[in-house]
Amino acid sequence: MNTGTGAMPAVVGHELHWLAPQVTALRQAAAQGRLPHALLIQDAPGGGGRELALYAAQTRLCSRAPAPCGQCVDCRRVAALAHPDLWLLVPEEDSKQLKIDQVRALNEALSLTGHGAAGSVAILEPAEALNANAANALLKTLEEPRPGVLIVLLTAAAGRLPATVRSRCQRLNVQPPGREACAAWLRRSRGEADWEAVLEVLGNAPLLALQQDPAIKNSVAKTKHPPFSLEPNSWTQRAFYVKAIEDAVAKGGKRGKAAA
Ligand SMILES: [Zn+2]
Repeated sequence: MNTGTGAMPAVVGHELHWLAPQVTALRQAAAQGRLPHALLIQDAPGGGGRELALYAAQTRLCSRAPAPCGQCVDCRRVAALAHPDLWLLVPEEDSKQLKIDQVRALNEALSLTGHGAAGSVAILEPAEALNANAANALLKTLEEPRPGVLIVLLTAAAGRLPATVRSRCQRLNVQPPGREACAAWLRRSRGEADWEAVLEVLGNAPLLALQQDPAIKNSVAKTKHPPFSLEPNSWTQRAFYVKAIEDAVAKGGKRGKAAA
């Protein structure tokens, strides 16, 4: 992920302008020292929720003001999914659930003092994969968070989370732009192509459409995915998608034409 100037989340150097209301809310909360300890981000896949989750993590962990600056070592480490105080919880391989053992391990990690002064962040995705026991275990941390902890629940189905969990989170709903605005953003980011046809199939999911670019797809296909684990520095294929996108852009420079 390219973090841009810190003003807005960005991918391949192009700002996700439709996240402006959520970004403004986060920046204002940070400036007033009122960043919540738990966020629930409701997103449709490919709409920018993941980027918003990382932006929230930067807002918490950034070492400059106004946060996030997008430039400091903490912001850059978050963008690279390589920050020692950023925890990424996803279902283990061969499982569709977030399990109680994973959440217990996370609780323990979050109860310890972080490496930096700013705090610790955990992103859980997809949050609706928390099974009942795991959700109960998470409640413990949601009810009595250590100062500086931010838990981000990223979900496409907030209604499937227990009400006890939902009620302890501040909600941010991501609204992807309309069809025309999605296509315009893709044109600006990746060049001319029949993006309308891609969006017709995928829905208004600009970041999913971006991954249809053959240059990005090929680059991802060659990347070996490591096993998932509750460790900083690993996060599903997502990290590798981002890396592949950035590599493809770095190698190819600005591509004139992106086939759908
Ligand atoms: Zn920063």
